[in-house]
Amino acid sequence: MSALFAAAEPGKVYLVGAGPGDPDLITLRGLELIRTADVILYDNLASPGLLAHARPEAQKLYVGKKRALHFLRQPDINRLLVKKAQQGLAVVRLKGGDPYIFGRGGEEAEALVEAGIEFEVVPGVTSASGAAAYVGVPLTHRSKTSAVTFVTGHEADHIDWNRLGHTETLVIFMGLTAFGSIAKRLLAVGRAPETPAMAVRWATFPRQQTIVGRLDDLAQKIVDAEMKPPALIVVGEVVEFRDRLDWFERLPLFGRRILITRPEGQSASFAARLRRLGADPVELPTIEIQPPADAYAALDAAIARLESYDWLIFTSQNGVDRFMERLDASSRDLRAIRGRLAAIGPATAERLHELHLKVDVLPKRFVAEGLLDALAGEDLTGKKILIPRATQARDVLPKELIARGADVEVAPAYQTVEPEGAAEELKNFLHGDDRPDWVVCTSSSTVTNLVRMVGAEALAGVRICSIGPITSATARDNGLTVAAEADPHTMEGVLAALLAAVERS
Ligand code: SAH
Repeated sequence: MSALFAAAEPGKVYLVGAGPGDPDLITLRGLELIRTADVILYDNLASPGLLAHARPEAQKLYVGKKRALHFLRQPDINRLLVKKAQQGLAVVRLKGGDPYIFGRGGEEAEALVEAGIEFEVVPGVTSASGAAAYVGVPLTHRSKTSAVTFVTGHEADHIDWNRLGHTETLVIFMGLTAFGSIAKRLLAVGRAPETPAMAVRWATFPRQQTIVGRLDDLAQKIVDAEMKPPALIVVGEVVEFRDRLDWFERLPLFGRRILITRPEGQSASFAARLRRLGADPVELPTIEIQPPADAYAALDAAIARLESYDWLIFTSQNGVDRFMERLDASSRDLRAIRGRLAAIGPATAERLHELHLKVDVLPKRFVAEGLLDALAGEDLTGKKILIPRATQARDVLPKELIARGADVEVAPAYQTVEPEGAAEELKNFLHGDDRPDWVVCTSSSTVTNLVRMVGAEALAGVRICSIGPITSATARDNGLTVAAEADPHTMEGVLAALLAAVERS
């Protein structure tokens, strides 16, 4: 993507609208600036998912107003923006929704002009339109509404309700506590008590919460539900559309918090799909891929005589990736492969396809036993077989191949280790208020590490979805109960198993 978009420039400040919360709702320009910034100043309304796109070395500064300790007042934020730009850094000021709608983006831009700092403003999807889309309430509709007003509840006393109170659709920002008195004023200027009204908290997030009522009872309902900010209130006939137009809260995994423990960089597309099904994926890897203990000695030696193998068997995408990296690091290339290729499952095969290599053998069941079945018709007597794979792996594959007369070489291509600091983060998450409903276990090593890091008790009440029988067995050996098991043993299968289990419950 980078070639198509211009990177953030040093010495310049970008006021970027982060969108309403769902990280997929940022603009392309906004995303590119996050990717290339030196410094990102953000607050609690900007989705944390977006910061994951920043360069690892970028400074990420929380300037929100939530945690009293790090309280920064607006003038402090303005000064910080100017200072960072003057240091020659490319500065992104990430703001929830749109920077120019109740976000004080105007004040920040003025401060930049005053200090002579170059700036650019990138609009965002304001929470008003994000909420409208995700609660099923079009803010205008030909048959109901031809005008809409955005108003802040913070200055309810200064607003001319006589004038604004009559706009057909009213969207009230920051109006949760003031809504009681706002509703009274609206009734006083003649709005009907039965006018539909609703409040939505954390709109577009999987934890979106909605309350629907009428102008005369919504305030009490908000109190009864103990709804807290951030929330928007919509008053007007259009609220009635929600019954028919709600799609988000009806998504099959809506609101389900799902812990994914795959290594960094391997769960993003799965998480993205979960998000599109309404789930709240939390990516906290329990394993990290590292070079094997022998520092690739065996793998490099195997690559040096690559043409001598009759078969190459790959049992994971990581195996393919490390193997190809070492091949690249050697003086040789793909032409040195003479043997036939086997892959344990479709994801591994896909990695080879990406390199324009066709797989000769792909089993029906994506486990070592399935691969052995698939090779049953082959005469392996005296055949040289190379298996580049994890240091920690089951013996069944090499053992059985040897029993069939093959000359098997297992070359460690990587090992999985516990990522630094991950145990602490996982414990905090599992003991916190936002506990997961599910944990997805995609390999034995992810499960073993998870239990070693947090203990089985920490997972009490959390349902487990495993990728297949081997992982399930490891989970049970570690004292866990498996609620769902994928078949086929792929991420696709995991998704299907999750959906089926949630539907059952
Ligand atoms: N610039 C932002 C608004 C900032 S003011 C925008 O364009 O959306 C902060 C207020 O916005 C919150 O108090 C709340 O009223 C509203 N808000 C922001 N994000 C929200 C969300 N995801 N759900 C509900 N309200 C939200």
